[in-house]
Amino acid sequence: MAGAKPVTRLYVEAVLAADQTIGLDHARAHFLRSVLRLGPGACLAVFNGRDGEWLAQIEGLGKGWCSLALLEQRRVAAPEPDLWLVFAPIKRARIDFMAEKATELGCSLLQPMMTRFTAVSRVNEERLAANAREAAEQSERLTVPEVRETVSFARLLESWPQGRRLLVCAEWGAVQPIAEALQAIRAEAEEVPGHPTGPWAVMTGPEGGFAESELDALRKLPFVTPVGLGPRILRADTAALAAIACWQAVLGDGARRPPAALAGFPAPEG
Ligand code: SAM
Repeated sequence: MAGAKPVTRLYVEAVLAADQTIGLDHARAHFLRSVLRLGPGACLAVFNGRDGEWLAQIEGLGKGWCSLALLEQRRVAAPEPDLWLVFAPIKRARIDFMAEKATELGCSLLQPMMTRFTAVSRVNEERLAANAREAAEQSERLTVPEVRETVSFARLLESWPQGRRLLVCAEWGAVQPIAEALQAIRAEAEEVPGHPTGPWAVMTGPEGGFAESELDALRKLPFVTPVGLGPRILRADTAALAAIACWQAVLGDGARRPPAALAGFPAPEG
């Protein structure tokens, strides 16, 4: 069975190690049994954000339970870029979209933040975490981004972690274009052995935009780089994803290739 092609990929909480059997929770067991209609003997890939990815085989499956035998490790855990997305919440479909796409684009943490003009009063962090988990399962990620409790703009800045730099998407005022700012940061990093880029975050405002006082406060902080995303006003979700993609391309893992052979696609020749 080692080397078998998995029919699906699941995030699990259990420790993953050779010769182990793990149990799945009710929701995942139901998904395998009633949605995918799998039975004993079927193979799937599992990952837990710490122990890489493993090939697992269904040993037993019933109503609300499933046991999996771990057959072999398919991929080992690897360091990932440390990029947070800090965002003012937006309406339901768009915030779900944002969480899903930010996960596909490799964000390590999603932090909702209430700003002065945020129109949404409540954030369902559990739903965002479910979106992130599903997107990680489908995008071959080995980790799932953490989703933090919503905080106020002031609280967020008071407790900002030392050493983490912040790219603020500022729709007005003096800013550097994002490509120019990131290239300069990369050039600076390349002068230091090992090219450390350090931990970063991208921040976007609500549909109503940042208040003048918020952008003024941000511009005064030594760890903030305000950037522009061009002459058009983007929706908040578009702005977040455009900024994350730019950051990954210049400072992150944008130059690496997907694990094509493992996903079941033939690796390109040459
Ligand atoms: N109501 C605002 C206005 O008309 O000026 C627009 C806010 S925009 C819909 C939401 C957020 O996306 C902004 O707060 C900003 O973070 C980001 N954003 C949108 N367009 C941008 C641009 N061209 N450059 C930088 N950030 C942008």
